[in-house]
Amino acid sequence: MVCGWCNADGVSVQVKKHGYDVLRCGACGALYVPVGTSYDPKAVYGPGYLTGRYAGTESFYKDYFADEAKHRAKAQKILRIIGGDGKRGALYEMGCGPGFLLDEARKDGWGGVWGTEMSDEAVDHACKKLGLLVQMQRTPSFATAHANVAIDVMEHIPIDEIRVIVSELYDCARSILAIETIFSDGIDDVVNWKMMQPPRHLTFLSLKEWVKLLPIVPELHNLAAKGETRLPGNPKPGVATLMVWRKNQ
Ligand SMILES: [Zn+2]
Repeated sequence: MVCGWCNADGVSVQVKKHGYDVLRCGACGALYVPVGTSYDPKAVYGPGYLTGRYAGTESFYKDYFADEAKHRAKAQKILRIIGGDGKRGALYEMGCGPGFLLDEARKDGWGGVWGTEMSDEAVDHACKKLGLLVQMQRTPSFATAHANVAIDVMEHIPIDEIRVIVSELYDCARSILAIETIFSDGIDDVVNWKMMQPPRHLTFLSLKEWVKLLPIVPELHNLAAKGETRLPGNPKPGVATLMVWRKNQ
């Protein structure tokens, strides 16, 4: 079987989790759940996704809305880091959930905020309760903003789509790309991490694999050529880390 990340031959099943095969590539070490034609994001992010249950299994989120204050505090911290003392232009968030970060960005003076999100109950909350511009369908024009943000999103994306998405988010951002994700340190992480729940979580890339993304994505290759070969944020395996790339600096 061919690896969805590096295209090398030699992928094997390492473990089953929640009934899903977790594959490991012998060449690059990427761990991922392959998605077939039966993968239906609408079912994965359907009713109950944010309130305790989804797709018939217990969800990591006990009640996302009950933790609103915690999520807003985290959003404020992220916005302080990515905004700094600089311009607060338009901000697009991919996978914005019920819109807490977008709402905080709006209060913080960012010039126009919008997002996309797979969970319809989250879209409903963002649009109806918070009056935000959020939709399920993602288009490249959506990513044309001063800052593009994706917090705890990449691990939910099928492995063969990550490069294209990161490249698009970087390319379309006028100034800032901010990605927070968690890095795996091997198969034990995938087995032990309670929050790693296929089919909700699909891709478990190591730090090494993320560093490889720098020369592979053309726009990020330019940064690597300038000597930026380390990921920002000093990520550690098992810890969600915010990485912020600033263009034109
Ligand atoms: Zn591979």
